[in-house]
Amino acid sequence: MTFSIIKTKAQLDSWLKKQKNPIYFVPTMGGLHLGHAELIKAAKKHGSKNSCILVSIFVNPLQFGANEDFEQYPRNLNLDSEIAKGAGANAIWAPSEKDIFQGDKNSLFQINVPPKLQKHLCGSKRKGHFDGVCTIMVKLLSLVKPKVLILGEKDWQQFIILRQLVNALGLQIEVKGIATVRDSNNLALSSRNQYLNSDEYNQALALPRSLQEARKSFKRKGSINIQKLRSDFEKNNLKVDYIQIVDRTTLTPLDQPKSPCLLAAAIYCGRTRLIDHTFLMTRSPIIAIDGPAGAGKSTIAQLFAKKMGLIYLDTGAMYRALTWHIIENQINPNDEKNLLKVLEDFKVDFKSSESSGPQVFVNQKNVTHFIRSPQVTEFVSKISAKFPVREKLTNQQKEFGQQGGIVAEGRDIGTAVFPDAELKIFLTASTSERAKRRALDLKQKGFEVPSLMVLEQQIKERDQADMERDISPLVKAADAKELITDGMKIEVVLDELTKLFREEVPEEMWKV
Ligand code: C5P
Repeated sequence: MTFSIIKTKAQLDSWLKKQKNPIYFVPTMGGLHLGHAELIKAAKKHGSKNSCILVSIFVNPLQFGANEDFEQYPRNLNLDSEIAKGAGANAIWAPSEKDIFQGDKNSLFQINVPPKLQKHLCGSKRKGHFDGVCTIMVKLLSLVKPKVLILGEKDWQQFIILRQLVNALGLQIEVKGIATVRDSNNLALSSRNQYLNSDEYNQALALPRSLQEARKSFKRKGSINIQKLRSDFEKNNLKVDYIQIVDRTTLTPLDQPKSPCLLAAAIYCGRTRLIDHTFLMTRSPIIAIDGPAGAGKSTIAQLFAKKMGLIYLDTGAMYRALTWHIIENQINPNDEKNLLKVLEDFKVDFKSSESSGPQVFVNQKNVTHFIRSPQVTEFVSKISAKFPVREKLTNQQKEFGQQGGIVAEGRDIGTAVFPDAELKIFLTASTSERAKRRALDLKQKGFEVPSLMVLEQQIKERDQADMERDISPLVKAADAKELITDGMKIEVVLDELTKLFREEVPEEMWKV
């Protein structure tokens, strides 16, 4: 692979013209380290073979305050080129100030970041910093026109602001965040770490250590002691610039931390300013997937759970299992006393094996196949509309999800079972598409397949029953993202879901 070192705008234009693959852009200020190498590797992994990775190096004067380290900031193009090349980048671009400012710095069009995004955290301490970051980023993006912008999540406020900038300007660029890379002592890698002498380095370790302790304490107790955190820092000679708890996407301060939220700190270690953060959570993230019959929820939720190492919960299977049990034991579901008795003893369990996928058990009997029968499908909506049924199964589902780390699919997951799920998806497709999928599913499971017209009618009736029942009807949660999957391949839906998940749940939040 050839590796190019680009300096002038003309060289950049000519290099870009030659590229056949989409550009993955990794903007940096140089001083590259293993954290940057991870960004480049992530770009390579994300784009597989069809990506062209460009790393820019520009020490942006607009993002430094008067007494900050602009002059001192590490500049070593040879070393940076070695690291970028070693990690798999195709080119490094180190533009001059002249190319970026096109002459006079003062005639540059400037971006003003909305005050609410820069009123807190670093924005409150480094006036004009994010305006400077965004002004130059827009310039870099307009010169490179990348398909994907790769950013480290370590500078969380910067990451959120740039993601919103790209959205607000309607740039057709995917913004991908990469988790903070840490050294063996857990210190977040930063170009500024090289300013630390060995004593300072040891003192700086209190930053990630105390944040992690706060995170653990929050998981146990649902609260943290900021005063203790401050004194932990001070005991280690770290001067606190700020410690703040904010909403992880709006960056607004929270009086009381509410799971999940961001705990961020900036400290001075000697003259070096370091930042770090952690996410405070009382449980791992939950993904809720709701939608009408035959929308492909099970397939997608199952694959997604496997891909992410999360637990998969098919709540429809629970309602089906109960319906099977009622049919099997010839119980009259309209006899409330009897129904309550059945519910008291009813126990549904899931077991999963690599070869057979999730298996459903009712009172120890494997009912995985039987619950998909047309007879169960015909009655399930009537059974699931009953109050005691919903109460019992909803409570069981909540118990399954107590620790989080779960992908649950059904009709009321985002509205009733896990209304505080971190990501809510409403997965749907046209009735005709869903009928086709149902036909295929029945055929694969060895059941008789009715005509598509009959299947469409059945699906419509079931949707109607699910949408019109009094208790937790099928409805799209106000904060759910809708995915209409007509004509979409499974892999494409999965990719889209992964993207939405990563937007809501940074890597450090889900790898608890
Ligand atoms: O998803 P599946 O088609 O297997 O669901 C079967 C039925 O179970 C649905 O039509 C609905 O009546 C019921 N259900 C529900 N709430 C859920 C999941 C399924 O009422 N969370």
